[in-house]
Amino acid sequence: MNLDIHFFNTWLRSLRECFKENRDYLTRLDSAIGDADHGINMERGFSAVYEQLGKESPGSVEAVLKLAAMTLIRTVGGASGPLYGTFFLRASGAASDKSEFAVADVVTLFDAGLAGIVQRGKAQLGDKTMVDAWIPALSALKVCAAESPEDPAKALRRAAQEAESGMRNTIPLQARKGRASYLGERSVGHQDPGATSTSLMLQAAARVAEEFQGRARSGGLATR
Ligand code: ADP
Ligand code: MG
Repeated sequence: MNLDIHFFNTWLRSLRECFKENRDYLTRLDSAIGDADHGINMERGFSAVYEQLGKESPGSVEAVLKLAAMTLIRTVGGASGPLYGTFFLRASGAASDKSEFAVADVVTLFDAGLAGIVQRGKAQLGDKTMVDAWIPALSALKVCAAESPEDPAKALRRAAQEAESGMRNTIPLQARKGRASYLGERSVGHQDPGATSTSLMLQAAARVAEEFQGRARSGGLATR
């Protein structure tokens, strides 16, 4: 089952609740090595995305992703707003006028998005940023695109698992980008907030894709 506009809409809208639930967790992480606003930033941004999607009802995946991008850039201060905004803006560009997304197409979207984050933030793997969650997630997606190209739910689950490992792997690292880098060695021993929000985002994507796939299967059975 390929992903469509309903998936992207539902996924992005689900992030409001996700970041509401995890606001304090993210803010706690950011208070250790930043300025204690990451949870607030993410909740504010995705509440606004939820509202805009409801108001404007964009009619294509490209437009859904673009609206998310512009809303995040407009409403989120701090590093994460422009970085996630750029992710969704580049993903939107890569979606062009496509309406159905197999695993390889999701790779195209997320690859473009990650390239935007890297271009803008200049972080590499191991710099203790959100990039440390995105890179292993993309690798997992690429493996799945080859092994089970028509199973985006499975691919997103694998990507979410890899993002979570990447997130945990930020703990022993010293930050080399962003606000946490000002702490030097004192950033060691703490989990990066942005890698954590990326991991949460991908977990939400996997959950929504699994729900859609489950529904499509039971719908399929009912019509037999
Ligand atoms: P700020 O640091 O401006 O307060 P947030 O707290 O919302 O913004 O976001 C912090 C997160 O942003 C960090 O945990 C890190 O993952 C990510 N980040 C910061 N700078 C960069 C960068 N140059 N490249 C990639 N990610 C970055
Ligand atoms: Mg912060």
